[in-house]
Amino acid sequence: MNTPFDPAAVVAEFIDAVSPYDPHPDDDPVAMIGVRTALGEGVFAVSDHVVRAMCKALAAYRDPEDRGVCVGCGGRHLDENLHCRDCGRLHGILGQVIAQHAARVAAAEAAQDPL
Ligand SMILES: [Zn+2]
Repeated sequence: MNTPFDPAAVVAEFIDAVSPYDPHPDDDPVAMIGVRTALGEGVFAVSDHVVRAMCKALAAYRDPEDRGVCVGCGGRHLDENLHCRDCGRLHGILGQVIAQHAARVAAAEAAQDPL
């Protein structure tokens, strides 16, 4: 996943993959997409069909680290166990079971040992 890749080449490949399905291939381009990195650069004149496909692809992307928002603190850094790195809250079924168990233990202790 961390091997270097050329973003301009990736954009060119995306355009090549989507362009054959453009229902109006003879229409003028509606946007210019420019990409320049240390590995390469390119400027692409793209059709309405292609720019819409790019926007859909970008809108559909979710970061692999994106596991939602913590209901406790609103933080966005839940680890793979749905454990909030910001406030420590556990999410998901396991987190709910642990929270309910802790509440029962606390209630039982309070009943046995009222202050
Ligand atoms: Zn949190």
